Amino acid sequence: MKACVIAVGSEMLTPFRVDTNSLIVTERLNTIGFDVRLKVVVGDEVDELTRVLESALAWADAIVVIGGLGPTDDDITREAIARVLQVPLEVHEHVLDRIRERFARRGMTMPEINRRQAMAPRGATLLENPAGTAPGLWIERGSTSIVLLPGPARELTPMIETVVRDRLAPLGRGAGLFRRVIKITGRTESDVDTSAQPIYGRWTSAAVPISTTILAAQGQIELHLTARADNRAASEAALDAAVAELRSALGPSVYSVDGRPLEAIVGDLLRERHLTLAVAESCTGGLLASRLTDIPGSSDYVERGVMCYSNRAKTELVGVPEALIAEHGAVSEQVARAMAEGVRARAATGAGIGITGIAGPGGGTPQKPVGTIAVAVALGQDVQARTFQFIGGREMVKFQATQAAMNMLRLMLIEPR
Ligand code: ATP
Ligand code: MG
Repeated sequence: MKACVIAVGSEMLTPFRVDTNSLIVTERLNTIGFDVRLKVVVGDEVDELTRVLESALAWADAIVVIGGLGPTDDDITREAIARVLQVPLEVHEHVLDRIRERFARRGMTMPEINRRQAMAPRGATLLENPAGTAPGLWIERGSTSIVLLPGPARELTPMIETVVRDRLAPLGRGAGLFRRVIKITGRTESDVDTSAQPIYGRWTSAAVPISTTILAAQGQIELHLTARADNRAASEAALDAAVAELRSALGPSVYSVDGRPLEAIVGDLLRERHLTLAVAESCTGGLLASRLTDIPGSSDYVERGVMCYSNRAKTELVGVPEALIAEHGAVSEQVARAMAEGVRARAATGAGIGITGIAGPGGGTPQKPVGTIAVAVALGQDVQARTFQFIGGREMVKFQATQAAMNMLRLMLIEPR
């Protein structure tokens, strides 16, 4: 089954807004076996929307149009549908009454423009909108089902859920797409693919076919596995086996197979071991502490984060000897090590991390170019330090530094020396 998702709104053609609702819709459609083959963003223009709808009607089994159902002049979705289907727009009196009531409950009279929200192309079925005024619409034309949903995500989300369950799933012949994401860090994309491709290459022709895509994100590689099967149990079993096979081929560089981010994985490892953590950060400016504390319940293991940007702060706050900085430079494994051990000693935690580096764009030297980051992790008797060379802008370098630091700690926790 092929689907087309159309997001309507001129704001999403500016540099300031991006269409995120189609991700929610796509996720729901995939679970019932609809492949989204085309996704379009159209401005609030009847002509353009009409053209897009006409071409989608020629091939799509389902068309989901998001937004433009509001009361204002720029809400043109109803008009475009009526034009394409060559049917008139009709007012639904009971919808009009309901909209009037909604306003009355807040002590207001319905502005006349809201009348538009009670209009629907002839033959359309109204879809209840529990969270807003404009109902959604369901229209069948030939073999294509057309769904119109309001733009606000809090209205759209429950509505797509219902439409998928009650109306689209019965058309999908039970074949669904199921996904797993394997997250890997500390290896390059080509390195991961060299190990993984011979394995996942075989799965496309398996009894339950699994297709795999490799996605390089900031500081991590993701392998997305998609299985297509008639039932969930068969898909889940095939995906379990596939994940296990990749996991054993890729080793400990795989940090997550259940969607959890690295900060959650590290947090869970610390909690299981009843360990607390203190971090001393220079070039990452607190990003590591921020990411660790993005996880609810992180107070179980995060004791403190110290931001020591200047040399003086490194000495005053975590006790890095001035002489050490003078001898090796602030960006050095020796200083990172002193930061990790210093913050751990002062915080009396089980684990300590120190990060110091050059995030750029200035400050690089031939010996220590921009992107040079020294990370040290102290855990029990074990203190490890490494120097990384990251590429990218300032933000990317900072993020990768936090990723590398968490990964070092993770590896030390799962494979203690
Ligand atoms: P309303 O009655 O609120 O006007 P509507 O159906 O006309 O409902 P829009 O006006 O198109 O919806 O959008 C309402 C809000 O939702 C706007 O802030 C818009 O930017 C946002 N929005 C609409 N479509 C999307 C989308 N595809 N992704 C993310 N945000 C969206
Ligand atoms: Mg609107």
